[in-house]
Amino acid sequence: MCIATMQLYKTQRLKVYNSLSSTKELFEPINEGHVGMYVCGPTVYSNVHLGNCRTFMSFDMIFRYLRHLGYKVRYVRNITDAGHLEDDADEGEDKISKKARLEQIEPMEVVQRYTVDFHNILQKFNFLPPSIEPTATGHIIEQIEIIKEILDKGYAYEINDSVYFDVKKFNEDYEYGKLSGRKLEDMISNTRELAAQDEKKNSQDFALWKKAEPQHIMRWPSPWGDGFPGWHLECTAMSTKYLGENFDIHGGGMDLKFPHHECEIAQAEASNGHSPVKYWLHANMLTLNGKKMAKSTGNNILPEEIFTGNNNILSKAFSPSVVRFFMMQAHYTSILDLSNEALLASEKGYQRLMEAIANLDGLKIGTTSDFNVKEWRQKCYDAMNDDFNTPILIANLFEGVKHINLIKEGKEQLSEDDKNLLSETMNSFVFDVLGLETKNDSGKDSEKLSGVVELLIHLRNEARANKDFSTSDKIRDQLAELGIQLKDNKEGTTFSVTQ
Ligand code: AMP
Ligand code: ZN
Repeated sequence: MCIATMQLYKTQRLKVYNSLSSTKELFEPINEGHVGMYVCGPTVYSNVHLGNCRTFMSFDMIFRYLRHLGYKVRYVRNITDAGHLEDDADEGEDKISKKARLEQIEPMEVVQRYTVDFHNILQKFNFLPPSIEPTATGHIIEQIEIIKEILDKGYAYEINDSVYFDVKKFNEDYEYGKLSGRKLEDMISNTRELAAQDEKKNSQDFALWKKAEPQHIMRWPSPWGDGFPGWHLECTAMSTKYLGENFDIHGGGMDLKFPHHECEIAQAEASNGHSPVKYWLHANMLTLNGKKMAKSTGNNILPEEIFTGNNNILSKAFSPSVVRFFMMQAHYTSILDLSNEALLASEKGYQRLMEAIANLDGLKIGTTSDFNVKEWRQKCYDAMNDDFNTPILIANLFEGVKHINLIKEGKEQLSEDDKNLLSETMNSFVFDVLGLETKNDSGKDSEKLSGVVELLIHLRNEARANKDFSTSDKIRDQLAELGIQLKDNKEGTTFSVTQ
């Protein structure tokens, strides 16, 4: 790679939508050529659903584009393995402890199982690993140090062996609510009186350290007794440790903006006096049936259920690359709804794109060029420079596909230099930036498999109609042995492929 391509960021002016200012801003990292990016990772108490994957995929694409522009990126994405309570605030059981209690295993077994699952799924989706993947439990000492700092500065109070952040006191000197656009006064007037047993001064206050009741298994010693850190604190501790008190990008899903990210800003300002992050980026939600995909409501689908077709929502299996392409067809700040029709359309688009790329090498070279490749290439960059606009990028890539097909049909021609530039641009955007792969486990092969299984289902139905149950059972059982399950229901027989 030559120097010019290595430092593309000098000529490609990237703009990002900063949730803190609610505007698109020119992206100028704190240290030229270097980017520090922190993204809130998963709480590893169950399998990641496709909604979680969408947020992480948005940031994988952002990581990829920043690297493509030539930035040296330190990307930190944590694993939340303690401190995340059931109601996302300060009440309820720790999500991981609860799972451990229900399954009668150690909390760290829960953490291990779902961290492994998370990594497996991300690998199938062709994610790049982050530079550092720290855990909350690995940073208890750092979290305790920040609490001491905040207590020293007078923005927290200790009560009954727990420590809470004093939001009202903080708001006298700083501004609580600036990320989410909420005013503390409105929040206070809109909340119910604190329950008598509540030990906080204000319901907006949040836990920095919680006393561990005797039954609480995940506990650590601290100056305030045995307890565990509040959820928001881990991200402040890990981002500061690995990226410094000031870093470039902090990301996460929109639903984390308040209170999680608001509290992170407050903790950092209270402990070191200044705002920690230059650009706050928030990815929007994946919905199913128009409602947010979520673990808690059961309105979700697991990636594995999509890859195998083992679900009641989709008509067939879809490969990780098709799902990735489907996600990339929406802007990361727009809501995206998952449906069978949308995935089928994405699969067609994906195949068209891959076919064109496969044809690139064999294109005949002409004497002149009928297609302005340089201009088109810049349009691809312009799309990505406009807050990572992948749907516009993909529209441009299809403009490229149109020309590839015309050249193949002999209706247009391209010079050698232009052909090489077209090829290099297509390949780098499709594979390096969007992170797609050519392998498509449920593409043509899966169509053929579907055809064969449908034929067998048809033969089985005929056998059943003729009361030839030995043949019909044989078909069902032998398919099951091959990992293909037949399901009889009112509408007929469907099948799914298990791993
Ligand atoms: P959690 O494991 O609950 O801490 O969530 C991990 C990440 O997934 C967070 O950044 C959430 O914002 C994100 N997330 C949760 N649900 C969805 C969804 N339906 N669509 C997109 N992102 C989501
Ligand atoms: Zn976080």
